Amino acid sequence: MFPLLSGVTGVIGKDRICGVVAATDARSMWGQLRQALHSSRTAELRLDWLVDDYQIQRFLGQLSGTKIATRLGATLIATCRRRGAGGRYRGSIAKQLLHLAEALRAGCSWYDLEIESIRECLPELLDVLLGEGRMLASAHFFDRLPRNLNLVDKELNRSGANAIKVAAQCDSLAQGLKVLRLARGRRNVVAIPMGDAVLPLRLLALREGSAISYAPVENATAQGQVLLPEVKSRYRADRLNRRTRVYGIVGNPVAQSLSPLMQNAAFQARRMNAVYLPFLVGDLRDFLRAIKPIGIAGFSVTIPHKQAILSHLDGCDPLAAAIGAVNTVVVRGGGRLYGYNTDYIGVLRALEPRIPLRASRVLIVGAGGAARAAAFALTRAGAAVCVCSRRPKTAAALAKAVSGYAIPHSRLRNEFFDAIVNATPVGMHPRTQDSPLDRSHLNCRLIFDTIYRPRETRLLQMAAARGIETVSGFEMFVAQGTAQFEIWTGKRAPADVMRKAAMSALQREERVQNRE
Ligand code: NAP
Repeated sequence: MFPLLSGVTGVIGKDRICGVVAATDARSMWGQLRQALHSSRTAELRLDWLVDDYQIQRFLGQLSGTKIATRLGATLIATCRRRGAGGRYRGSIAKQLLHLAEALRAGCSWYDLEIESIRECLPELLDVLLGEGRMLASAHFFDRLPRNLNLVDKELNRSGANAIKVAAQCDSLAQGLKVLRLARGRRNVVAIPMGDAVLPLRLLALREGSAISYAPVENATAQGQVLLPEVKSRYRADRLNRRTRVYGIVGNPVAQSLSPLMQNAAFQARRMNAVYLPFLVGDLRDFLRAIKPIGIAGFSVTIPHKQAILSHLDGCDPLAAAIGAVNTVVVRGGGRLYGYNTDYIGVLRALEPRIPLRASRVLIVGAGGAARAAAFALTRAGAAVCVCSRRPKTAAALAKAVSGYAIPHSRLRNEFFDAIVNATPVGMHPRTQDSPLDRSHLNCRLIFDTIYRPRETRLLQMAAARGIETVSGFEMFVAQGTAQFEIWTGKRAPADVMRKAAMSALQREERVQNRE
């Protein structure tokens, strides 16, 4: 059972995930605030996003009139960050302070004041103007991590604020961990690593001791932010604790991956204290060094690291070693890494229920990672494998590795296969009109396209039109994911839940693409 941490009250607000409300006009700002309060009772009001002083006054007037903060017991933080400090407010410091004072009267209990403004103000002035509120003294570094975080920490503390916040752009997990260390063992520190490379650390910030973490309702206000509904429902960032088992996907790019959605749905369905995060990894060594401090228990590996990871493993499943690609790693005692290939299982689970593989003749188009997984899987299942790829040498090498044979493209129209597998990216979104084969090549009973974006590729459409059975790469995707879940957890994967989660995301994407 997932231990609930939501009962733990933060030093700033009851809810430790703070919804960021940022819009350019008072009306949209109000709409976002209502949305934020559906998910969290803590919200930051980015007054500096409102286009002018009139819109700020309008919004604060509405806030005051409705008394929404008191009625809902919400903690509202007012921010009116000036341009020089990375915000959008163009007015003077005097006006900034007046807006913050107005916000406190309208129901905000906290105000965020950046170090740049604090330096310019006498403490007595702040006390007179803003004394009724609590101060969050903040420092932002949008370009890079400052050399000496301790100096920043000290300066913020000297301000006499009730809590301090440090947000810094980080290019590596190592840098992000440095920022999070500021919050460890302290109750009144907000630590925010910014940037796409440290997005997982943002999601783990509360677990690491940050007093709150921010998630925008609609508009991202910094790099590497995840929207509030996803932070709450997909990643459950407010419930993660030191006992949470951390998994993830390592790749570049990873933003488009459906795996976080699918694996987190599985953990939730099995009521496990575990989370699966997207790690955008350029430098594999940076990720490997972060495994221990983050406490990562296992991870998926995707393009471009599936081959490179092999040289960092302590052990490898012999089949994955033969395939030459690892897409699943288990972190064992002492941080030892053990690799598997579940694409192989994905191919078998996609095909086995549909055709008898023993003694069948299967053509694989392509000779890369997916093709290798398919070739080994099908050979082990008793099929005779033919490989056709645009580079004859690689086709021949793969054919040799599985005791099959390579076949040139020009001969395909005269051959018949029980099944054809497309293991090239030809036909993948956005080039959905492309196909690796034309009609004259489709001499087979079944066609399996490993591509799952779109689910129905041009190749599959052509096959279906000729009455050939088709299998989408979606089947392989779900199957390789359920196999990963089972390897990591030792429990049976909730396959239906995982399929549904991935399917509804793909359908949403397809609807958007059709509208465009
Ligand atoms: P890969 O290692 O880069 O291999 C791609 C293969 O396709 C290579 O043989 C490459 O030939 C060939 N190729 C690329 N562009 C081509 C073109 N325009 N015309 C002809 N051949 C071309 O990639 P991979 O990891 O094997 O992935 C291949 C496909 O499998 C992708 O579409 C991926 O989405 C899919 N996949 C699906 C799943 C799933 O779960 N459904 C899992 C893994 C992969 P060269 O070597 O000459 O470049």
